[in-house]
Amino acid sequence: MPEEVLRQAAEQMLDWQGSGMGVMEMSHRGKEFGQILAEAQADLRALLAVPAHFQILFMQGGGLGENAIVPLNLSRGGVVDFVVTGSWSAKSHKEAARYAQPHLAASNADSGHTDVPAPEQWALSESASYVHLCSNETINGIEFQQLPDLAALGSRAPLVIDFSSHVASRPVDWSRVGLAFGGAQKNIGPAGLTIVIVREDLLGHALPICPSAFNYRTVADNQSMYNTPPTWGIYVAGLTFKWLLAQREGSLSGVAAMEQRNIAKADLLYGAIDSSQLYVNKVARAWRSRMNVPFQLRDESRNQAFLDGAREAGLLQLKGHKSVGGMRASIYNAMPLAGVQALVSYMREFERLHA
Ligand SMILES: *Cc1c(COP(=O)(O)O)cnc(C)c1O
Repeated sequence: MPEEVLRQAAEQMLDWQGSGMGVMEMSHRGKEFGQILAEAQADLRALLAVPAHFQILFMQGGGLGENAIVPLNLSRGGVVDFVVTGSWSAKSHKEAARYAQPHLAASNADSGHTDVPAPEQWALSESASYVHLCSNETINGIEFQQLPDLAALGSRAPLVIDFSSHVASRPVDWSRVGLAFGGAQKNIGPAGLTIVIVREDLLGHALPICPSAFNYRTVADNQSMYNTPPTWGIYVAGLTFKWLLAQREGSLSGVAAMEQRNIAKADLLYGAIDSSQLYVNKVARAWRSRMNVPFQLRDESRNQAFLDGAREAGLLQLKGHKSVGGMRASIYNAMPLAGVQALVSYMREFERLHA
């Protein structure tokens, strides 16, 4: 989270804008919270340039919840195409079998989730309800640098993307998307808020067993207040949206400015990895994530020494996911270039000492 946002939230913790109450003390149906919610939605729409024919929903249940909620709402119990590129899309594929007929259209499992088959090679179904992919695989460090044009690939299905771990780090091409979902906790705010951005025409087709609180039509018709929304999460996310909108990089602002910074951060880190004898990133270059950078030490016996030294240098949370091993640097929006520079200096020093 941006430090500025955390400070703002702390300052207003006991008294939001002179109202005499903190956000956690407000009724979600009062005019104060109504204003917070409406502003957060409008700011997110502006930030991600969400077209008018998409609804922005603030929900709960996280990315894993959406693995069930999306098929409950969109599958009509029919065939759903899955493009499996790593741990998160593999989970989505598995969960969907409870509600729909998942079809594995493509998988990169045999590359160990390090390369992705070209979209032209995907075995898309003729009449899928939707096509699911994870646009940034957080654990494996794989990112779609552009979203596939499904119509050009012969599919009439809408594209569903799980953008949990790179939301607001780059623009979204909404002409290629039917629905995008993501937990807020990686790039936007505290855990507990799930963002769903869905094209109008995809609402209203939920299976009868879909819980009312998870029915997109119901949530949309009630302005994300069918049940009590995660008010604190929405408030802090709203502060982050305003922070993001105010960011500038040359003539660019908002997400376009963040994208430039994220490219610079990722280039610096991958450059350091590629030019070293000790570190290696196994992901095919065209698919490397700007947000999550897994890397291994060629000599794995030094992993713990690397992590211990990093901690001493104030560099935390670098241990890789157990399924990939090694290290992982998650360089989300709020991580400044200086943070990546500090990591790269430490990596060079560690390599020099252990060469
Ligand atoms: C973290 C993450 C999730 C998990 O979401 P929860 O909020 O824990 O349910 C899902 N998808 C991706 C891509 C993630 O990075």
